[in-house]
Amino acid sequence: APREQEQLLPRVDLRGRTHDEELVASVLPRAALDVSAAVELVRPIVEDVRARGAAAVREATARIDGIDAGTTRVPAEALAAALADLDPAVRAALEESIRRARLVHEAQRRPDEVVEVAPGGTVTERWVPVRRVGLYVPGGLCPLPSSVVMNVVPAQVAGVRSLAVVSPPQREHGGLPHPVVLAACALLGVEEVHAVGGAQAVAMLAYGTEQCRKVDMVTGPGNVYVAAAKRLVRGAVGIDSEAGPTEIGILADETADPVFVAADLLSQAEHDPNASCLLVSPSEELLDAVAAEVERQFALTKHVDRVGPALRSQSAAVLVDDIDAGLALVDEWAAEHLEVITRDAAAVAARVTNAGAVFVGPWSPVSLGDYLAGSNHVLPTGGTAKFNPGLSVQTFLRGIHVVDYSRDALAAVAHHIDALGGAEDLVAHVAAVRVRVPAEEAGA
Ligand code: NAD
Repeated sequence: APREQEQLLPRVDLRGRTHDEELVASVLPRAALDVSAAVELVRPIVEDVRARGAAAVREATARIDGIDAGTTRVPAEALAAALADLDPAVRAALEESIRRARLVHEAQRRPDEVVEVAPGGTVTERWVPVRRVGLYVPGGLCPLPSSVVMNVVPAQVAGVRSLAVVSPPQREHGGLPHPVVLAACALLGVEEVHAVGGAQAVAMLAYGTEQCRKVDMVTGPGNVYVAAAKRLVRGAVGIDSEAGPTEIGILADETADPVFVAADLLSQAEHDPNASCLLVSPSEELLDAVAAEVERQFALTKHVDRVGPALRSQSAAVLVDDIDAGLALVDEWAAEHLEVITRDAAAVAARVTNAGAVFVGPWSPVSLGDYLAGSNHVLPTGGTAKFNPGLSVQTFLRGIHVVDYSRDALAAVAHHIDALGGAEDLVAHVAAVRVRVPAEEAGA
């Protein structure tokens, strides 16, 4: 059947089933173009930028984005002008978003910790920021100035000295990134911005070009091509999680308002035709009511070209036996965003183990988190929430152990190093200690 005739948010009945990995993978497929498949599509772009630098970036931008510019670097005057022209209401909203994000992210900053392991022997964990980072701000389908805030605030709180923001060039804005993206950079004091998007932007940051100095780490959300490019350059640079096309999971019972639930599903589906939306409930009545609401709201929504494919292709409304079964299912799916709209929502949410971020109760929609909750919206997708956290101050810090022992503190454990070095047959290890504190010495 043609896509248009397929059902929005197909129904899946998983009552009486165990929610293991195999079941979830077979009945709740993620987007057909996943990061692994996209890696092969973007590999030539990334390799070309690595080999030929700025010329390759320019050619990829001309070919894919339809814009040919001599340089990627956005002039300082364009940043200042974008801020001067910013709509006051948008400025006020960005300022409040920044204020709330700073509150939360400043609380993430860990102090250096000195542990006295034994008399005269300390190990200090010193948190040191990455020196130079590249921050990706999406702008293919919609420009996301909110992603400027979500990338830049934690990097600045971590103490990163050198930041480069990249965002796709916009034809209607003279080949520069969207002016609100530029204004958000200016508000935060970011001076280095490049008009380049997609895999070519990630490769430019990772390998450096004549126009952009190589970074140590690339972070930020993006479409599947951006996520794939990050996977390819990992190792040459650090990356945050694979923050690809958006996902929303909603665990709801019969107390949930179907109007809210449908609105939240549509809100994330409008990001990308590759977005995924999963509603999980033990209430057949709720699923029926949400299905009707999704149809009604879909008829009124703007971005039907994205919402339609997302809701038909990799989304579902799943009927489960009870909330426990629902929890097992959402934990296995490991959503980027998970809303819990149930009785005792906070208690249910506390039992979630796999999610990028959790939104509790009817008054904490994902849209709040996208803009203004104070939480970070750069979050792991594609099931990577099982092992990766969202972007945070910690992303930009490395904990360096600083070991400082006195001669006596070393001597006190030298016999243990003898034993362990002997067990590993690493005699030079033992010798490196014994040249300092010989075994024949009294007390050693
Ligand atoms: P984008 O900036 O991520 O991607 C646009 C770029 O992709 C273009 O500049 C182009 O160079 C490249 N591109 C497009 N089609 C291509 C192709 N066929 N081959 C190679 N490269 C191609 O902007 P977008 O497309 O609007 O996507 C934004 C994405 O960010 C959405 O998927 C959204 O869900 C996601 N997002 C994720 C998070 C998260 O934390 N996980 C947060 C916000 C947004």
